[in-house]
Amino acid sequence: MVEIEARLDELSSLGLRRRTRLVSGPQGAHVLLDGRPVLLLCSNNYLGLADHPRLREAAADAAMRWGVGAGASRLVSGTMTIHRRLEQRLADFKHRERALLFGSGYLANTGIVAALARPGDVVFSDALNHASIVDGCRLSRAEVFVYDHCDVEHLRWGIERAEGRGTLIVTDSVFSMDGDIAPLAEIAELAARSGLRTVVDEAHGTGTVGPGGRGAVAAAGLEDEIDVIVGTLGKALGSYGAFAACDEPMARYLTNTARTFIFSTALPPPVVAAALAALDLLASEPRRVQRLATNADTLRDALAAEGLQAGDSTTQIVPIVIGDAAQAVAVSEAALERGVFAQAIRPPTVPEHTSRLRLAVMATHRERELREAARTIAAAARAVGVDASPDPRAAPFVTAPAVPEGHAATVIPAPTRATVFDVDAAPARRAA
Ligand code: PMP
Repeated sequence: MVEIEARLDELSSLGLRRRTRLVSGPQGAHVLLDGRPVLLLCSNNYLGLADHPRLREAAADAAMRWGVGAGASRLVSGTMTIHRRLEQRLADFKHRERALLFGSGYLANTGIVAALARPGDVVFSDALNHASIVDGCRLSRAEVFVYDHCDVEHLRWGIERAEGRGTLIVTDSVFSMDGDIAPLAEIAELAARSGLRTVVDEAHGTGTVGPGGRGAVAAAGLEDEIDVIVGTLGKALGSYGAFAACDEPMARYLTNTARTFIFSTALPPPVVAAALAALDLLASEPRRVQRLATNADTLRDALAAEGLQAGDSTTQIVPIVIGDAAQAVAVSEAALERGVFAQAIRPPTVPEHTSRLRLAVMATHRERELREAARTIAAAARAVGVDASPDPRAAPFVTAPAVPEGHAATVIPAPTRATVFDVDAAPARRAA
């Protein structure tokens, strides 16, 4: 039996204990946190739509017209006209034949990966994929080859070693904790050559990157190459839920096999209406997407001027890796005292020794606020004794230890070691 208090004490001693913080009022660029006004720099409400009047009105109208709940799962009696309407709009938005709504991004990834892989298959998964993909791999009971982050050579090597048992490559497009983008063209090419399917999770790419915010897959011109594009409605689109964009046969297959689609209540009408309003806004005000990119550049530049490097981030997600979990929390707390809310992100969300402040820019932040926030975070780091160099050419802000050898195995712990497809042996064999 799990010793609950002992486990909580252990988490505390490792600097890994977590708690919720209370935001009063709506989500915006500024919020009241535990009663104090702060600049919000760790929300996925990237376009500032969660509290937009048009989304609020759409949700309120939908509640009056259709009620607040769908009452059943999609395959029983929960499919309403508004679900169909949103699915059609999302399919058009992603330039695919069909889109299928899911209750959340977590449910989409777990359900889709588990539907597309079986025991005996091998799934190839990026080492920094989101936990919902990791859990989808576990649910599938397939073997999992975790390739080094964005390392196409490692992926190629793994596919060769699978000797025809490979079935699926799955990756985030915009990585949730690093803000870099997967090498999608190379992955798609490799998949086509090897006869593998592809699932790309655009949770952080939908509404934020690519033409009109259509995502990183669209930016790379790969809409017809990727088998399933997952997108979420709860981040840039300001609402809640998720979808899979795919072709007609795949939509029919997932409708019949994705257990998280089949066995979960359909999305509530107000949430669906708000997502429709968000898509309208995205089409009529595309400058929001541009503004988000400009704001991200502004923040990265301002951080660099303080000696804080944001890794390989090219998007609205801007990580400052501290390394040690307790130190990351201390910097976050010191920044909060100075009015900037930038949550510390620790294992297991990120690999050991890479705890960080995951800064998330919004299109509704002002340039001045972002520059000021960079100064505040640098001051917070200095206040807790984390060395920050004012010279951008100097050594990185904090030298985080490299991700330990074999980290992939700890990112996706297998149900049993024996079912992992050579994860541990991979680096050594590659060198040989
Ligand atoms: N995929 C990624 C990459 C994510 O970051 C998240 C949420 N943080 C999800 C999926 C899950 O989406 P949702 O919050 O809608 O469950």
